Amino acid sequence: MMETLQRVYPAMENWTGKKFYHPLPIRRVFHSAGEQNQWIAHSDHPSFSPYLNESISSLPEHIIAAHGSGIMKQTGRIKVKAMLAAVRATLKASGNFTEEKFNWSQLESHGDGIKYGSLGAHAVISCEGAQTALRESKLEVTGFAPVKGEVITVKLEKDLGKECIHQGHFMIGEGNHEALVGATYAWEGFRDGPSSIKRAELEEHVRKVWDGSFETLTHKAGVRPAVKDRKPLIGPHPKEKNVWIFNGMGSRAILMTPYLAENLAEHFMYGTPLLEECQPQRMVK
Ligand SMILES: Cc1cc2nc3c(=O)[nH]c(=O)nc-3n(C[C@H](O)[C@H](O)[C@H](O)COP(=O)(O)OP(=O)(O)OC[C@H]3O[C@@H](n4cnc5c(N)ncnc54)[C@H](O)[C@@H]3O)c2cc1C
Repeated sequence: MMETLQRVYPAMENWTGKKFYHPLPIRRVFHSAGEQNQWIAHSDHPSFSPYLNESISSLPEHIIAAHGSGIMKQTGRIKVKAMLAAVRATLKASGNFTEEKFNWSQLESHGDGIKYGSLGAHAVISCEGAQTALRESKLEVTGFAPVKGEVITVKLEKDLGKECIHQGHFMIGEGNHEALVGATYAWEGFRDGPSSIKRAELEEHVRKVWDGSFETLTHKAGVRPAVKDRKPLIGPHPKEKNVWIFNGMGSRAILMTPYLAENLAEHFMYGTPLLEECQPQRMVK
């Protein structure tokens, strides 16, 4: 999975001519001496040493923690909005992108293909994400267990620097004294938008770990299209002919999608076997 990720995002940057993949070490803050010892032991193990820096580092100024921190290696950040804009623009320029709401009632399935308006194809792939998970798509897909998440951006008294600090919640320095803080988890209120309870939870976290004043600038909510058994849903729709599903990324879309999309594309082109554990059919009783 890591190999595909490290190959695909830079290839997409080359293809679009835009930068959206930024290496960024993740700093794990220890809550106890025991956690620190565990890190040192793990960082010496061949399975973990490529990902965990063996030395214990001191924390940036203004971060409150008594037991130091460890730096994770091979980590990075995808600026998703920038990536999507770059991909859209490149596909549009080549005449391969149309932006409109897909209307399932206009889809005609016949023999071994589909027809949608003037378009004809062997199949259609639904990537409707959270909308399907919340049953807002006409296409019924079973197995989802959606999870709501919220984030805030804060203006800090002092700049955090180029840091992604993880200690229960994450805090990412965005420059200009701003930081992104998240994320929360909830299994209800999907359509209610940002909530005062989760805002308070995130602000309480900042007060706990940040030695300085801050002001909340923005507050957003979204829904993770998670699946009951925590595996994606990728493969033919159990009932609808010539309809395929690519969904169920939960909270790990950036990590998993390059590997999973490559598997699906290779299945269509070369007959490579699909990943059995991801097939939507498993959710049909
Ligand atoms: C607070 C929060 C933090 C998260 N943090 C991370 C993280 O750190 N790393 C990570 O990898 N993931 C993270 N996630 C999860 C990630 O956002 C999702 O896994 C990802 O967005 C799923 O992508 P998707 O394209 O499958 O679905 P979506 O992002 O839901 O996108 C589906 C798209 O399809 C469009 N659509 C739906 N139906 C139709 C239709 N009929 N016609 C046309 N368009 C349609 C929708 O408008 C939408 O644009 C987080 C999620 C939340 C809420």
